[in-house]
This record gives sequence, C-alpha cells and structure tokens, in this order.
Amino acid sequence: MEQAQRIQKLPPYLFARIEKKIEEARERGVDIISLGIGDPDMPTPSHVIAKLKEEAQNPENHRYPTSVGLLSFRQAIAGWYRERYGVELDPRSEVVTLIGSKEGIAHISFCYVDPGDVNLVPDPGYPVYGIGTLLAGGEPYLMPLKEERGYLPDLAAIPSEVARRAKLMFLNYPNNPTGAVVRDKFFHEVVEFAKSYDIIVCHDAAYSEITYDGYRAPSFLATPGAKDVGIEFNSLSKPYNMTGWRLGWACGRADVIEALGRLKSNIDSGVFQAVQYAGIEALTGPQDGLREVCRVYQERRDLVVDGLNSMGWRLSKPLGTFYVWAPVPAGYTSESFAETVLEKAGVIVTPGNGYGRHGEGYFRIALTIDKERIKEAFVRLRRALGQVRFD
Ligand SMILES: *Cc1c(COP(=O)(O)O)cnc(C)c1O
Repeated sequence: MEQAQRIQKLPPYLFARIEKKIEEARERGVDIISLGIGDPDMPTPSHVIAKLKEEAQNPENHRYPTSVGLLSFRQAIAGWYRERYGVELDPRSEVVTLIGSKEGIAHISFCYVDPGDVNLVPDPGYPVYGIGTLLAGGEPYLMPLKEERGYLPDLAAIPSEVARRAKLMFLNYPNNPTGAVVRDKFFHEVVEFAKSYDIIVCHDAAYSEITYDGYRAPSFLATPGAKDVGIEFNSLSKPYNMTGWRLGWACGRADVIEALGRLKSNIDSGVFQAVQYAGIEALTGPQDGLREVCRVYQERRDLVVDGLNSMGWRLSKPLGTFYVWAPVPAGYTSESFAETVLEKAGVIVTPGNGYGRHGEGYFRIALTIDKERIKEAFVRLRRALGQVRFD
C-alpha cells in the first residue's frame, strides 16, 4: 500500500545516522555522555505530584474532560498572564488547553492552511512548525536565523509576494536551538508586519521561564496590538519538569483560539483532569522549584560555555533555554563534528542541520545532564580535540 502524500512528504529523520552510531558505540561498551537530549532531568516538584495523587482519587476526574480544558485551569493561565506580564485574557474565549504545546503547534496549521498556502517558519527551529505546515498541505517558507542578526529573522528580507500568501508566522523566544532571546523592538516589528500582510503570529514561549542572569523573557502578547494578530503557546513541560505529563496551552486572539478549540474537539478529548489540577498547582503554588531549576541550568551553562571557550570557542552565555548553540570548528560539517566527538570522546552533541539547513555548521548541547557528567565530557573533549580553530 502506498502511503498518503502528506506522509511521503515528511522529511526523513535527520538524526538516524547518528542514532545508529550511538547504538554501535553502546554495543562496544562505550560509556556515552549524552549532551543531546532536550528533556529536563530533574523531577516534577513534589507538591505537584501530591496534587495529581489526590485528584486521581476523585471519580469526577475519571470521565472525559472537555477538549478545551477545565475553566479553572484556563483561569489559572489568565491569572498567571496578568501577574507575570500584565496581560489580560478572557479564560473562556482566549485560552485553550493543549495536550502539551507540541500538539497545538502541530494542529494550528490545520485551522488556517490550505494546499498552496505558505507559513513563515524559522530555520533553524523546532521541527514541528514546518512539519505541521506540510501535513496541512502548506509550504514552509524558511526565515533564516543568523548569528549576525542575533538569531532574529529579517522580516524585510521576506519577499512581499510570499508575505501576501502567508497564513501563519512561527516564532520562538527564548529560542530552541540557538538560545537567543528577543531584542529591542522586534515584537513591535512583528505586529506591524503581521497587520500589513494579514498574518497570524504563533509565538512559542516554551522557555519563557528558563532564563538567566536576571533576564525576564517578555510575552509576545504584551506587545501593543499583539492580541489582534496572534497567539502564544506555552507549557508546563520545561519550567516544572513535566514533559511526560503533556499539559500546555495556547492563548491570545479569540477567533484563533476558537478555531483551534473547535478542531481539537473533533480530534481529541482533552487532558486528564487530574493532570490539569496538578497544572494549576504548578502555576499557582510555591515557585522555589522553578528558581532552583534555573540556578542548576545556569551553573551547567557556565560549565559548558567556559569549557568550550577554553578550547578556542568564543561564545557568549545564552540568557534563556537549556541549550548552548555553537559553530563547528574549521574543517567540519555539523554531522562530521557530531560523529567525531562521539567516536573520539563518547560524547553526543546534536548536529545543527537537524533543525534546518541554516543550522548547518553548528551543533547544540543540552544542559539536561548533571554537572559531574558535563565535567567528564569536557575532560574527554579536551583530550580528543585539543584547541580548535575557526578560520
Ligand atoms: C519542548 C518544546 C515545546 C513543547 O513541549 P510540550 O511538552 O509539547 O509542551 C515546544 N516548543 C519548543 C521550542 C520546545 O523546545
């Protein structure tokens, strides 16, 4: 049986080659240190787990939830936006619960994209923006994120005939994989651009709470006019170490939230209510776990960046996310560098081209591994690579 075209068009899994090498090395008994996986290694705060346990006992929570989510969860989101950003949201019409934000990011294209339509997609970027576009029959137009522009897309470089055909623009700050944060008036420019071309902005704020050195990430929705042009995705996954729980949300422009909620009501039946109650507890309960998480990542970030710089890199420290994005030394491609450090040091880094073709020439390190292992990784990297050159 031939597969549907939408599946045939899905790009092949880019990490397949390196996965195979990892497998082989493990079979040879090599002690692999993975700096590859962007999944928090610390546990969910215990008061959140306690809430889940309690709510799991309640038979009212054993029935189908609504797909848009408990009103009380959406109220907690609205309250969080008011307190955190000074942004007012109507929990009924401007917030929808998601089965992790990935689910909504993948589905939003189905609400707006017909075959032949274009979405503006950052490259390098979280792969789901482009995949969702393709699955809906649309065409991703890649916005290169370049180091010299602080990894912000150049809106003026988007041809106007492309912008006129575009339905959605995906953005993500603090940014995976580059660790970049928004600067200056960028979100204002985005609102102007979206207004003039009638584009819906989808800002992915998954790392809004994972920031360092006193930096506080802004919400796109706090930009004047933003709620007229867009929505924001966020999630419990990264700040509360809840990736396995699958709980996120989208909020902002009401007709977009309604469309996403209507689509979802025909596909899924929402998130287990006990998990939503635990989510309320995470957002409204004590926040010392979150502060500790940021402190731990910041310490690891410093180890990684100082370690790379001592070997010849010249990186500044990212203000957000739990990633370090770095160029490969002279003479390497993303893949050959990842393969070399795996073979010579037993260390896994993610090749940058896995995040899009403008990620070629870079690699990503995730800070989701404890500092003793990071130190050990650098002992090995120094031994394997010595001083590196970039010419
Ligand atoms: C982790 C991540 C997400 C989504 O995570 P969920 O667990 O689905 O909420 C979304 N965007 C980016 C950029 C991420 O790295």
